[in-house]
Amino acid sequence: MSKSSATSTPTLDAIVIGAGFAGLYALHHLRSKGFSVKAFDAADGVGGTWWWNRYPGASVDIPSAPFYAYTFSDELAQEWQWHDKQPGQAEVLAYLNHFADKFDLRRDIELNTRIEDATFENETSLWRLTADDGESYSAQHLILAMGTLSVSNRPDIPGIDDFSGECYHTGHWPQEPVQFKGKRVGVIGTGSSGVQAIPIIAEQADHLCVFQRTPQYCIPARNQPLDQDYQAEVQNNWQHWRNLMMNAVTGMPYPATERSALQDSPEQRFATFEKLWKLGGFPVLFGGYNDIMTNKEANESLAEFVRSKIREIVADPVTREKLMPDYMIGTKRQILDEGYYETYNRDNVTLVDLRQEPIVRVTADSIITSEQTCEIDMLVLATGYDAITGAPLRLNPVNGKGLDLSTAWQDSFTTYLGLTIPGFPNLFMIHGPESPSVLHNMPLAAELQSGWIADCM
Ligand code: NAP
Repeated sequence: MSKSSATSTPTLDAIVIGAGFAGLYALHHLRSKGFSVKAFDAADGVGGTWWWNRYPGASVDIPSAPFYAYTFSDELAQEWQWHDKQPGQAEVLAYLNHFADKFDLRRDIELNTRIEDATFENETSLWRLTADDGESYSAQHLILAMGTLSVSNRPDIPGIDDFSGECYHTGHWPQEPVQFKGKRVGVIGTGSSGVQAIPIIAEQADHLCVFQRTPQYCIPARNQPLDQDYQAEVQNNWQHWRNLMMNAVTGMPYPATERSALQDSPEQRFATFEKLWKLGGFPVLFGGYNDIMTNKEANESLAEFVRSKIREIVADPVTREKLMPDYMIGTKRQILDEGYYETYNRDNVTLVDLRQEPIVRVTADSIITSEQTCEIDMLVLATGYDAITGAPLRLNPVNGKGLDLSTAWQDSFTTYLGLTIPGFPNLFMIHGPESPSVLHNMPLAAELQSGWIADCM
């Protein structure tokens, strides 16, 4: 579709917004069912989250290979070789580029194009879209595949716009490598992104100051190359493994345990956790007992075990106390780390506890808290996203009665299965609010949801 002739572009069966895991698959699937489809993405490459999140250390945050992938094609599953158990950003992005090439998707993708307006016209029963360059497009169906974690949360801290050094959000990291050497860096935020980036920034920067609001329970990832015999076994029996994925609550075919923590004494539980800690990864949370997330006592045993690890790892008693979480483990997104707590033993790293000393303001070259001034040359915002509803609300589609989504959702949001929105005809969402979203294996869920959408169309 040429942009110059866009005002007269033919009406499509569907327009997909987003060219990440969900959008690429929706484009492929709908096209394979005979629909005319185009996808649009604001980035200048395909990949969605994996195109934007290039911060140091960015990787899938669960040991996911070879299952964090599309499942529908035996050929694709068998030809792609994953290298790491927990693949890094570059590896996942390479996989998505391979998928786009293999299924010849690029001819129907408009990159560098942000759709800014979407309005349903009653007279024609079409969605009319306007892009950031003023071009307009129309389609019978509109599919939002814009990502659940794509609209950055830039904290509203007084003076933040006065900061004159380099400032990056982890979710919108520059394409060019960022140099930390010789710089004093401040990182705000210690979620999955911050915890992945902090140890690497600390190794390179002159000084790193971490601004933490809520301490985290981190479990060592112990990422390593994927066992190639295991990968071959899975590839050779792909349909069997695919069935296991389809029948697993999370879409990941990992064995579950039937044992309750209450069947063991506190000492036995600690011994079990210790064994799992050495292996690393999610088994620490889910591999020992089946009731960590449903029984307070079981949960507290693991929480206390992780606190004991923080005490063991972090040398300075004051820093150690700041890092100590006091809520139930697993109630925030569980983080897997590579040397996060160890980072606080470095001489060039300082931890600021924002619950004890909140940020008062940011200046051109510092962050001022209620207790001190931290001079910095670079500010990294690892402050997360306007999650789940952020992207649809930013687009703010308007239905045939002139009602926009933010008004429709002002009190609470309503969807049908997370896939459609009452009153917004022919509009579909993938990974929308009320869908399994980030609690499920997202490539697999994108396949299932795209299948439902195609059937409905
Ligand atoms: P996040 O989990 O929402 O963490 C944001 C961090 O910023 C939190 O520590 C938060 O503190 C802090 N923060 C936010 N606003 C702040 C403010 N005004 N002042 C001080 N601190 C502030 O975001 P994220 O780390 O980017 O991760 C988002 C999600 O992305 C994760 O849940 C995970 O699902 C996903 N993720 C996935 C991968 C992957 O491999 N697939 C990798 C990275 C991230 P509070 O905790 O106090 O709110």
